[in-house]
Amino acid sequence: MKFTFWGTRGSIPVPGPSTLKYGGNSTCCELDLEGQKVIIDAGSGIRPLGDTIDPHQGDLILLMTHLHWDHLSGFPFFTPAYTPGAVIRVGGWPRGVEGLEGLFRSSRFDGNFPVAFEDLQGNVFRDYSLDPTRFNIGVVEVATIALNHPQGAIGFRFDGPGGRLVFITDNELDPDDPAPAKLVDFCRGANILIHDAQYTPTEMTTRQGWGHSDWRSCVKLALAAGAGRLLLTHHDPGRSDQEVDRLVGFAREEAQGMAVEAAAEGLVLEV
Ligand SMILES: [Zn+2]
Ligand SMILES: [Zn+2]
Repeated sequence: MKFTFWGTRGSIPVPGPSTLKYGGNSTCCELDLEGQKVIIDAGSGIRPLGDTIDPHQGDLILLMTHLHWDHLSGFPFFTPAYTPGAVIRVGGWPRGVEGLEGLFRSSRFDGNFPVAFEDLQGNVFRDYSLDPTRFNIGVVEVATIALNHPQGAIGFRFDGPGGRLVFITDNELDPDDPAPAKLVDFCRGANILIHDAQYTPTEMTTRQGWGHSDWRSCVKLALAAGAGRLLLTHHDPGRSDQEVDRLVGFAREEAQGMAVEAAAEGLVLEV
C-alpha cells in the first residue's frame, strides 16, 4: 500500500508562507492499493491530485469520512469528475454522494458555476459494495469505525499484505480517557496510525465538543494500541509550520521512542 497526503489541514484551506512545509490544502489522501486508486475525502487537496490521474486507467474509488465542508469542497475542481468515461465509485460515509451532489446544488448562486451535478461527464455514484462497515478492495481488507465528531464521521483501517494502516481524521479523544478499548482494538498493531491532532492540550480545555483531538491524547492512543508510527494530521488552520514543528517535538518527548511526525502535503508512506 502506498499512501500519499494531498491535504493535511483542518477546517479551511490556508495557503501562504507560514504553511509551506506541511501544506495549506484541506483533507485529501491517496492510496494506491496495488494498482487500484483510492481517494479518501475531497477537501481542496483533491484538485492537484485530480491533475495527476488518468481516469481511463481504471475506476476510481472515493471514500468519504463525513460531509463537513473541509472534506468536500475540492470536488467541483476534481478534473476526473468532468472527464467522459471516468468512473468514480463513492463509498464510506453512507450519504457521501448526497453530500457531493448538495455541494453543487447549493453553490450555484449565479446559475452557472459550478455546473449542475447531473451535467458532470464522469459517472459519480454510490457503490454499495463499498459497504460502510467492512469491505474488500482487492486483497486489502477495509474496516470502519464510528468516530466522536459533531454529525458523526468514520475512520478507516486498511489491512494489506504489508501491514495495517489506520486513518482517523475528525475525532475527539477525551484527554481523560484517550484510549477507549474499542478504538484501541481498531488501531491495534497498526504499522501506521494517522490521527486528528488539531489542538494542543491547553487549547483542548476550551474546545470540548468541537470534534477534534490534542497531540498528547493521540500519543497515548498510539502507545496503547502498539502502533509503530504516528502521523498527526488535520492541522489547525491558524497553526504555522514552526508551531507544528514545536508540537511534534513535544509529542516525541512523550512517545517513548515511537516514531511521531506531522502529516505534510506530498508525504508518501509505504506499508
Ligand atoms: Zn475536518
Ligand atoms: Zn468534520
